[in-house]
Amino acid sequence: MVAEIICVGTELLMGNTVNTNAAFLARGLADLGISVYYQTVVGDNVSRLTDAVHTALDRSDIIITSGGLGPTEDDLTKETVCAAMGIELIEDPHTRQRIEEFFKRFRKGRIVTDNNWKQAMIPKEGFAIDNDNGTAPGIVCEKGEKRAILLPGPPHELKAMFTDKVVPYLAKLQPDRLYSRMIKIAGVGESNVETRILDLIDNQTNPTIAPYAKMGEVHLRITAKASSEEEGMALIEPVAAELRKRFGKAIFTEEESETLEDVVIGMLRERGFSIATAESCTGGLISGRLINVPGASDVLNESYVTYSNEAKERLVGVSHETLLAHGAVSEETAAEMAKGAALAANAEVGLSATGIAGPGGGRPDKPVGLVYIGCSVKGKTEVRRFEFRGSRENNRSHTVQCALILLRDMLLFTVDCI
Ligand code: AMP
Ligand code: MG
Repeated sequence: MVAEIICVGTELLMGNTVNTNAAFLARGLADLGISVYYQTVVGDNVSRLTDAVHTALDRSDIIITSGGLGPTEDDLTKETVCAAMGIELIEDPHTRQRIEEFFKRFRKGRIVTDNNWKQAMIPKEGFAIDNDNGTAPGIVCEKGEKRAILLPGPPHELKAMFTDKVVPYLAKLQPDRLYSRMIKIAGVGESNVETRILDLIDNQTNPTIAPYAKMGEVHLRITAKASSEEEGMALIEPVAAELRKRFGKAIFTEEESETLEDVVIGMLRERGFSIATAESCTGGLISGRLINVPGASDVLNESYVTYSNEAKERLVGVSHETLLAHGAVSEETAAEMAKGAALAANAEVGLSATGIAGPGGGRPDKPVGLVYIGCSVKGKTEVRRFEFRGSRENNRSHTVQCALILLRDMLLFTVDCI
């Protein structure tokens, strides 16, 4: 079953209103296992809306519109869609009564202007959907195999109506649903991941695997179309098992909502470790990301922003000689910062970053984007060298991501400490 979304409103075309209804409807339809191949935005204009409706009816089974159901002159969705589908409009006494009641309750003393009654007109072939949050009812048009579902524009009205009334209606039309599972991978590049699953993607039908690349992470969503959750999960599981086999420990979670920082905080907690950071180019961003996680205080007491050489020496005990011999951006300094942070905070784990974020400050031997990240776990220290090629902001957030990945890798090898 294929649906198509048409959002009506000149304000959307002008960029004055963000089209949140389209995203909401698209997600809702995807959850129902209904394919959406096209979305259209069209202004409050009869002839262009008529064109959009004809085009949509030609290529889709269901049209869902948002907007243009109100009482005013420019609200013309219902009249236009019904005309395009060859459906007559008739007055619905039930809806008329609801409008009367709405005005009595919420618009006390106000005269109900005549234009409000056009909202009580409903299609002869179809029905109205009660609006519990406004006056304009939703409309369902049924003509042969085709359906048009017209929803009001205000997002709180549309959302409630879609969730409470439209989802059950559509679920009856399309018994199959989409079920999905997320596999999140860190520290493996996007093209590397894609190459390693190319055979799976090439041969896929149900379920499908869709990769989404984020900075330093690749998320693989496995989606199956099935008539029950049990059947969906049974289709998904063998594919998930194959991905686990291929990516092993690079998979940091299979929970949709879990982040890399959630995972490392959990690992620290499990091991009874606390952590301190010593940050130069990231200026506290690593700590900030860890502290995004509620309950981070279980594992983090303090951290250090050691931007200057003097601060690196004074706060986390980097030796003067190391700074003189190797410079602030060096493997040696990153290692001493990580060890020193752990020592200064009396923590088991120290995590450090020192680098040249740019845009200035680069030299041929130490270019912009050169970053050393250090991690020390119970005295065992590792430093990784990176050369990022982005803006200052990008280099800094990349550093944070790579620091969390290094931390996770180091913690993975300390399972025996649990
Ligand atoms: P309408 O039903 O066309 O009179 O729209 C009423 C109000 O709903 C508009 O003023 C917008 O604020 C909002 N609205 C309409 N369409 C959308 C949409 N696609 N996404 C988000 N808000 C919308
Ligand atoms: Mg409008």
